Amino acid sequence: MADLDVAVVGAGFAGIYAVQAFRSAGLTVRAFEAGSGIGGTWFWNCYPGARCDVESKDYSYSFSPELEQDWSWSERYPAQPEVLRYLNHVADRFGLWPDIQLNTRVTAATWDAERSQWTVATDDGRRRTARFLISAVGCLSAYQVPSLPGLETFAGPWYHTSRWPRDGVDFTGQRVGVIGTGSTGIQIAPEIAAVAEHLYVFQRTANFAVPNRNGAIDPEWERGFKADYRSYRKQAQESFLGVPITGTGRPALAEPPASVQRTLMERWQAGGGMPFLGAYTDVLVDRAANEIMAEFMRDRIRETVADPFVAGLLLPRAYPVGAKRLCQSDDYFAMFNRSNVTLVDIRSAPISSVTPSGLGTADSFYELDALVFATGFDAISGALRQIDVRGVGGLPLAEKWAAGPRAYLGVAPAGFPNMFIVTGPGSPSVLSNMVLSIEQHVEWIRDCVLQAASDGYSTVEAKPSAEDAWMAHVTEVAYSTLFPLADSWYVGANIPGKPRVFAPYLGGVGPYRARCDAVAAAGYEGFALG
Ligand code: NAP
Repeated sequence: MADLDVAVVGAGFAGIYAVQAFRSAGLTVRAFEAGSGIGGTWFWNCYPGARCDVESKDYSYSFSPELEQDWSWSERYPAQPEVLRYLNHVADRFGLWPDIQLNTRVTAATWDAERSQWTVATDDGRRRTARFLISAVGCLSAYQVPSLPGLETFAGPWYHTSRWPRDGVDFTGQRVGVIGTGSTGIQIAPEIAAVAEHLYVFQRTANFAVPNRNGAIDPEWERGFKADYRSYRKQAQESFLGVPITGTGRPALAEPPASVQRTLMERWQAGGGMPFLGAYTDVLVDRAANEIMAEFMRDRIRETVADPFVAGLLLPRAYPVGAKRLCQSDDYFAMFNRSNVTLVDIRSAPISSVTPSGLGTADSFYELDALVFATGFDAISGALRQIDVRGVGGLPLAEKWAAGPRAYLGVAPAGFPNMFIVTGPGSPSVLSNMVLSIEQHVEWIRDCVLQAASDGYSTVEAKPSAEDAWMAHVTEVAYSTLFPLADSWYVGANIPGKPRVFAPYLGGVGPYRARCDAVAAAGYEGFALG
């Protein structure tokens, strides 16, 4: 008999809820977490300025109406410390700590066909067996530091934003370089600029960003909102993004240009990426419509950044707006008006080397005291590939995914019985409200496991044909949009040598949920039960 019913890898939003959901269903469960605290992404990414770009009312668990009523968020977009406090509160409130093992990295998981169970090895040298293996490792956990020649010779400290020192870093009076201008770089740069003697921002690709218009939550508004939280959650479950946003419902190209500009300005003033990007139905599928929005955003950069040369470098032109994750910031572009901030274009003059005293590009050298990498992640598949997961016949998951990550419904990889991936490749995951998608996956997996057991089955495995058909559908939907035109981490383009596969499912949260429910209702269609 296995030691556990369910072994969970990771204790971020997904792992925490998996412990709660499986335990409440009467199963024995243990989550193994490499960090010294729970929270996953919200534990590791404790860099200054880290903030969620989904509103707190949406980016929170819905499984407990009492939790939802009792917890009060202080801000529209919560900062990292508040999200971490929330997750610790959830673990306290539901008594989850006994089933979460911190400071323990899962190194390997091997399917034992004879006993129909997984053997899970951890870096404390122990092995546990479990009937089911749940990956809750997250989509943005395996951080990447580019291999820059000479980095090991740099005399000052260097940091990756996703492994930020928990006691913080004091950059006062220092010359600091930040490499990377994605969501993270855009958040951390203004914080460093406020204290550093000089900040150099090394930009390879200019990015689009909308304002947050963040602010404190008004208790009166909160009371009113919470009175109807349940029906709001229902709308979120049925929505496209996992957040009920209201677009105009019209294509931008069918509307008079002045009216489009007015609408975009209203949404720009209100702040937030989803309502802005969702304003018109054709922006993410039609190049001309997309260009209208892109040019509107470039105009905002032109009017914010005083130096026209710097403004020119900051204008995003390399990809359609929205095809990479839309950044959100209230102060990034204005930061370039500070005299202690320099934008360095490493597209035209790439980084050539790092020396003890700084960083050289093809045409200049920058003296630096500290270096910050905001260079992103081997997303979606990277963290799981770092674990030696072996399925039927000892097949390594990394080998199965050699041509790109895949899983039936984005949750179950064929050839890996009794293994499920929360927000895996081929599910809405990062193109949705992650918390809501995590809840949907965990509940679906729990129901599948319970149903299989009550029907007398000990194994549940996706059929290769079902996986193939699902991934073909994921690709077809993606290629009906502008998303694949960007060299984004959605397609793995940010990792040298990674196969270009569009991993998230763009069919929408509501339709995806309906599809998963239909598969369950049809007796887990596409799965072999044994
Ligand atoms: P990212 O979006 O992948 O951005 C990485 C940045 O580093 C890009 O500017 C990239 O340039 C640059 N870069 C990578 N390798 C480089 C190299 N070898 N040389 C020079 N520049 C290099 O990573 P991220 O900013 O950490 O964000 C990842 C995701 O995390 C986001 O898309 C978002 O989903 C999530 N996130 C969310 C929030 C939020 O909720 N507000 C905050 C932070 C992160 P290129 O563009 O040219 O590749």
